[in-house]
Amino acid sequence: MDRRTFLAAAAVSSVATLGGCATGEATDEGGVMTVTGPIRPADLGRTLMHEHIVVDFIGAAKATPARVDAELAFQTALPHLRKLRERGVRSLVECTPRHIGRSVALLRRLSEASGLQILTNTGWYAAVDHKFLPPEAASDSASRIAETWLEEWRNGIDGTGIRPGFLKLGTGNGPLPQIDAKLVRAAAEVHRRTGVTLFIHTGDGAAALDEIRLLREEGVAPAALIWVHAMNDPGPVQIEAARLGAWVSLDGYSLAPQNVLRFPRFLEAHREAGTLNRVLLSHDDGWAVEGNGPRGSGFGLFGNGNTAPFESLFTRLLPDLRAKGFSEADLDLLLVANPREALTPRHRLLS
Ligand SMILES: [Zn+2]
Repeated sequence: MDRRTFLAAAAVSSVATLGGCATGEATDEGGVMTVTGPIRPADLGRTLMHEHIVVDFIGAAKATPARVDAELAFQTALPHLRKLRERGVRSLVECTPRHIGRSVALLRRLSEASGLQILTNTGWYAAVDHKFLPPEAASDSASRIAETWLEEWRNGIDGTGIRPGFLKLGTGNGPLPQIDAKLVRAAAEVHRRTGVTLFIHTGDGAAALDEIRLLREEGVAPAALIWVHAMNDPGPVQIEAARLGAWVSLDGYSLAPQNVLRFPRFLEAHREAGTLNRVLLSHDDGWAVEGNGPRGSGFGLFGNGNTAPFESLFTRLLPDLRAKGFSEADLDLLLVANPREALTPRHRLLS
């Protein structure tokens, strides 16, 4: 099927399945939804699996779209995104959830201007003492919450028609608090209905294993889960989760200096364990309207002083890995094949 035929088929598919059905809905025939529409998984190409264009850490109670200066964000981000295209990156997964500054119209404008394919998300972020959750996270049932997210999946976000390409949650450390566990069950319901991949920002290894347990109780296989920030675990649980089939996302390369040593060690451990085919990479770079780092509020990079976002993977990590004997095929696995498989909507259910 050529691209045009595919896009037409995908559009028909998403319309035809709006009402939902027992076996699922709106999987777009295995297509991947970007902020400019569906694409074939094969067209994702080299993909950064966890980045941010703009975030606002003020908290759900005060976060409003008006706090993001979209023009300033556009002008600041665009040169960096163009540079990514020059590095051969074709796709970027923008992981900023609703209530933390998600700005999908800005993402579409940046995608059109840079040529970079960008994915956005539905879902809520429960980490950091539930500061980023709306009140209904406590009062609504898991099914009601799933419906809220499915509404964005079906009809688009904030009246823009832009649909999410994945579901994003955030949880703290394990064992998971009751609200976090409820959100994981709601995410499982969305996965059962749509086949969409579940990105879960996760505090530690215990929380990751808790998430896998909850998903299994809901009939969802670990392969539906991307364990975001898996580098918070020193190693053993990463391997365990990967062996269970979950995706292990090593995605904060730019955020801490020690990652320059830790990331190659983690990747060597996965290579030895035979689990490199479950590992994903990214920087977790971005800009903060209201920061969570030492620079605090203001238009800075998470307060970590990084003036060259989305670069260190290419200028530091990949050369380090090549020096340690990782082949170009290994690097393609991490940056092309694994993202393609992880992002393709597919019902990953326990039989
Ligand atoms: Zn992030």
